[in-house]
Amino acid sequence: MGSVSPPKGRLAGKNCIVTGAAGGIGLETSILFAREGANVLMADISGPALEKAANKLKELIPEHQNIDTIICDVSKESDVQAMVAHTDAWGGLDVIFNNAGIMHADDADAVDTPEKIWDLTHNINVKGVWYGCKAAVQSFRKHGKKKASVINTASVVALVGSATPQLAYTASKGAVLAMTRELAIVHAREGYRFNSLCPAPLNTPLLQDWLGDDKAKRYRREVHLPGGRFGEAIEQAYGVLFLASDEASFVNGTDFAIDGGMTKAYVTAEGPASEAPQ
Ligand code: NAD
Repeated sequence: MGSVSPPKGRLAGKNCIVTGAAGGIGLETSILFAREGANVLMADISGPALEKAANKLKELIPEHQNIDTIICDVSKESDVQAMVAHTDAWGGLDVIFNNAGIMHADDADAVDTPEKIWDLTHNINVKGVWYGCKAAVQSFRKHGKKKASVINTASVVALVGSATPQLAYTASKGAVLAMTRELAIVHAREGYRFNSLCPAPLNTPLLQDWLGDDKAKRYRREVHLPGGRFGEAIEQAYGVLFLASDEASFVNGTDFAIDGGMTKAYVTAEGPASEAPQ
């Protein structure tokens, strides 16, 4: 992990973990973190996807040496502990982006949500974030960090209700918000900040896999997106970068909605979203 010259950038020299790093938001954030001088540990459950993502990052920023990858299932505490321990050799963790998550939806009413879907979703989206927060705080303390940042990915569905069949997902993201807020208050005097990211629907594999093309078009019309378009992963990554950096030193416990105004919209402009800029 040795760097040739002193790192420059908004995260210069910070040791950062990104989970779900092979996916839409995770990869864009890993790229941005690396561009801003961080040492980045990219973590994901999918080995091949992770390798592809890391190769993309190395192609984009060939001069950046400080990238590592680790296969981690965030729903397994031993995996998460091993992931965080990986940063010990770098001098300890400074930033963790607990971003890995799944969204499962059957075309069923909420009352018919299968229990196995509920448990799977909560094991990854809630317990995974909890394990990440826990291991991070243990690491911050072990390395005597006086400031550190934790960003947990929630969703707009934790802020506003939706008629889409995704009850387990919605409940899990609500839990992320509540957990993050409490941790923010508990650890504030140690200098550890905790914030939630609340993305609106995005053009990432997660949403495309869930909706399929035709449904995605209908969803785009029905959902209250003032600008008439889904978001892009990079638009989330810029927000994560801010929360991770010292520029956000007084930002703690927020539900940071990067949503194109979606959670503030009552009625949006008429007209098919397909006619709005995409
Ligand atoms: P994505 O599907 O592109 O990426 C998710 C990544 O998480 C994948 O690479 C996947 O392999 C990984 N992953 C899944 N289960 C894992 C596990 N158990 N352990 C480790 N890694 C695991 O999705 P994305 O859109 O980039 O989503 C990232 C986060 O953003 C998720 O928490 C998601 O719920 C949230 N989110 C997404 C949207 C959206 O519209 N895409 C909106 C709001 C919130």
